Amino acid sequence: MPHIAIIGSGPAGYYTAEAAQKKWGEDAHIDVFDRLPVPYGLIRAGVAPDHQSIKAVSRRYEKTALTDTVRFIGNISVGTDVSIGELQEFYDAVILATGAPNDRPLDLPGGDCANVIGSAAMVGWYNGHPEFAELDPDLSGRNAVVIGMGNVALDVARILSKAPTEFEGSDIVAHALTALADSSIETVTILGRRGPHQIMMTPKELGELMHLEQAIPRVDKRDLPPEDDDAILEPGLRKSVNHLRSFAAIPESIHGEKPRAIEFDFFASPKAIVGSDGVATAVEVERTRIEAGRAIGTGETYTIPADLVLSCIGYRTSPIDGVPYDARAGKFANSDGRILPGLYCVGWARRGPSGTIGTNRPDGYDVIDRVVEDIGSASRKQGGAGFDTLAAERSLEVVRFSDWKKIEDAELAAARDGAPREKFVDIERMIAATKD
Ligand code: NAP
Repeated sequence: MPHIAIIGSGPAGYYTAEAAQKKWGEDAHIDVFDRLPVPYGLIRAGVAPDHQSIKAVSRRYEKTALTDTVRFIGNISVGTDVSIGELQEFYDAVILATGAPNDRPLDLPGGDCANVIGSAAMVGWYNGHPEFAELDPDLSGRNAVVIGMGNVALDVARILSKAPTEFEGSDIVAHALTALADSSIETVTILGRRGPHQIMMTPKELGELMHLEQAIPRVDKRDLPPEDDDAILEPGLRKSVNHLRSFAAIPESIHGEKPRAIEFDFFASPKAIVGSDGVATAVEVERTRIEAGRAIGTGETYTIPADLVLSCIGYRTSPIDGVPYDARAGKFANSDGRILPGLYCVGWARRGPSGTIGTNRPDGYDVIDRVVEDIGSASRKQGGAGFDTLAAERSLEVVRFSDWKKIEDAELAAARDGAPREKFVDIERMIAATKD
């Protein structure tokens, strides 16, 4: 049976491992690599900490990981510790499930101000990703501006608006919980360059804004199209727009009842970050109108005060040396998951950052079908034993799934009351926990 290397242990990675296992059963040989010593990618470091029910899908991935045919090879950075070419010598198929961890660049004048933060860093910070644990965003001002109207913008706006008690039962990391408890942010403005009919926010997530302890969402009813126009929308988007209509119907008198506001600013395209000495103080915005679904600038501009700017405008896959990359789309250049002979991609690395966690499941099954079409079920390579020899020669510190379980036990033991875990936020402490 072929030897399969899957690079990335997030949803796309583990659904692909599951698919390979279904295909080849007990004869499967599957190694799942991750640059971190901990598995599950976006489930651990991307999904909002107050969305524990979504994070629970990791139990399904654990079932796959605990079988004899699948190995976790954590703490190994493909492209640095081992090259794609080397992996291709060992494995019949190398499947990149590396997601899209980098922000789409904001590319605005002033966008390099210190308090302009991309969603990868912000989400990574409150989720304890080691790369962003030191971010320490300045929450001492009153106004935050979130750019983008997708679910990530919604996550960031909600997390900034919640009271500490609303994080009970979540696995938000201690440094973020403490900082958010001290936050002075009163208004979070969510900027959309298009209108209510073009939002990318899903209804369940949008509906949560109605039930926040200390924040009330605000939509200007003049921004909403006539209600009859909602009939053409697909059902999910129609539900989301219904939520916006409910927000617009909140009487002005109610708004004063909570100390925080989440303001939706539609038809508002950011043009520049205004600031001095490298610190943003406002966002300059151009009013737009929609033509054939596209935002067209009207020339009318205004500024919104901003003590913190969060850019939540989508993500890009990290290029890897030797792997063809589609720079415009921000993902690996591929045809139906095929990159080069023996080299494939799956999930966000294949199709870009769209869809739900579950969208990656059919992707994983599809890519294994491609592998079977191309190379059948026979192996011509030595597989994981080859990598193990190379790792030993290079003194690479490989973290196995049993080591991760030790890290996890330590995180569970360190959990504050009511929380599922307290994550380690630096790699040294993770590795130290594997030695206990
Ligand atoms: P997204 O859904 O693609 O939304 C990106 C937003 O940024 C859009 O509103 C887009 O506006 C806007 N945008 C892009 N470029 C811009 C620019 N230059 N200036 C101003 N606005 C700009 O991306 P996402 O929010 O990062 O989410 C990624 C994926 O993860 C999505 O599939 C999402 O549903 C999923 N996700 C799901 C959940 C959940 O289910 N709870 C949570 C988080 C993320 P235009 O439409 O005008 O381009």
